[in-house]
Amino acid sequence: MSFNGKQPTLVNQLQTDVPKEKVKAHLQVLGVFFHLLDTLAGTSKPGNVEATVDEFFQRSTYRLQVWLEQVIKIDGMEDFEKPLQDHELPPLDVALALHSYMLSPLRYFEDSELRFPQLKRMKEYPLASILNVLDPTGRGYDELKCLTAAKYWQNKTQLKFNAIDSMSKDDTRVIECPSCNTAASVPWNGDRGFASPGFEYDCSKCHLAVNHDLLCAGKFFKALTQAKDGPGFCLPNTAILVRGELDIQSRCASIVAEVWKCLQDEKGEIQPLKDLAELAATEGSSTVAFIANKLSRAESALRTESLPVLLRSFEHSYPFTQDVVIALHHQRPFIDTIYNQGWSASKADVPSDSDLNEAYMLYVDFLNLVLNIKRREPGWQDDLIWHTHQLMPQNYRAFIVDHLHVYLDHLPKGEDMNAFRRHYDNEKNPKSVAVWIESRSIVALTTKGTFLPDDKPAPESCQAGLAAPSFLVTEPATAIFASN
Ligand SMILES: [Zn+2]
Repeated sequence: MSFNGKQPTLVNQLQTDVPKEKVKAHLQVLGVFFHLLDTLAGTSKPGNVEATVDEFFQRSTYRLQVWLEQVIKIDGMEDFEKPLQDHELPPLDVALALHSYMLSPLRYFEDSELRFPQLKRMKEYPLASILNVLDPTGRGYDELKCLTAAKYWQNKTQLKFNAIDSMSKDDTRVIECPSCNTAASVPWNGDRGFASPGFEYDCSKCHLAVNHDLLCAGKFFKALTQAKDGPGFCLPNTAILVRGELDIQSRCASIVAEVWKCLQDEKGEIQPLKDLAELAATEGSSTVAFIANKLSRAESALRTESLPVLLRSFEHSYPFTQDVVIALHHQRPFIDTIYNQGWSASKADVPSDSDLNEAYMLYVDFLNLVLNIKRREPGWQDDLIWHTHQLMPQNYRAFIVDHLHVYLDHLPKGEDMNAFRRHYDNEKNPKSVAVWIESRSIVALTTKGTFLPDDKPAPESCQAGLAAPSFLVTEPATAIFASN
């Protein structure tokens, strides 16, 4: 690798912004996550490990929601400044889910501004708090050291603090009917359990047969109504501009108005979810696909190529913009790699100082390629620095926007393989999602006209991406996505 005169300065700046101690602490926490998943696999029947891990990731994502809503919630403005207290330490699986959530910097930022302000209590990921309560083996929490947190969690949530215990002992989760908001307790397991694709239960109040599709559609209509009626709300994934500014003013309202227009009846109203679900069923489609099709009608002023971004957060029913379950699956091989390379062991000389220096240089090289709209899949070493950087969200946003002039996103591999993809793909433009549309407004990027990714196989590692600020045909087209 060759460096021009500017790059050593950038390496130095990064080593100040993302100190080696933080990278090492991150490595140690990744080692703890490895042992957690290893223990989990040990509890599973042979041949059933993947299903067990998937259920565990779904539960961890739900428990992250519970932690945000019941443990670290804020009551007044002054609470924003209150750092996490010892008794608010997340259970280890929640810490794992939070880690994956944060590694989606744009969605995490948008959620912390608009949906979960309590996230702002963490200026950065709580690496030190986790390392402080490890047992002597360094492989998991010490029961005594986190006793206060465990008691507080169990008292607030009625769930087990220990993630492995919770998996075998907490049989149900709470859910709200997407039609009448009545809360119900539903099982995790079984053919009709929440963890299964065939999940279904009958709402005791409105008798809707609730399934995953209706939960996703319900999430969509809730977000749409909230954004239409409440100032300061937007549809998920629409509030961040290309340079990382938050825009929740007229632009969000125009997008919402256009979405509403596509879905309204003759009276300008949107039919109840129950009726839309029945209508979708008569057309042989899911409710969510029915919505997607309505939005992609020819007369719509919504950009077809941006619909996947607009609808991305309704492919799952958790209240987050990011699909944390997918992100957890995506992070798992990375955790394995770090462990197998020996970098997460608490040996003094691994990684060595020169190993880490090399990783910083690789990360700088990666950022410089992005600056020139060239693609390179980050290797696990520069990924490590990139990920550690993202665990300091404010720092990452400031640094990256200053250097690249765009707010570089980090996307789980395989997002485009999600079920919705087929609704937007067509023969004329099979890669509509992956196009970088030319932008003359982004001076920092040497634009090369429309850039189509090489027809290479999907990356093995992470993907870079940019904010997608253009949802309406009336808006200027700018860079949308770099995932392929
Ligand atoms: Zn109901």
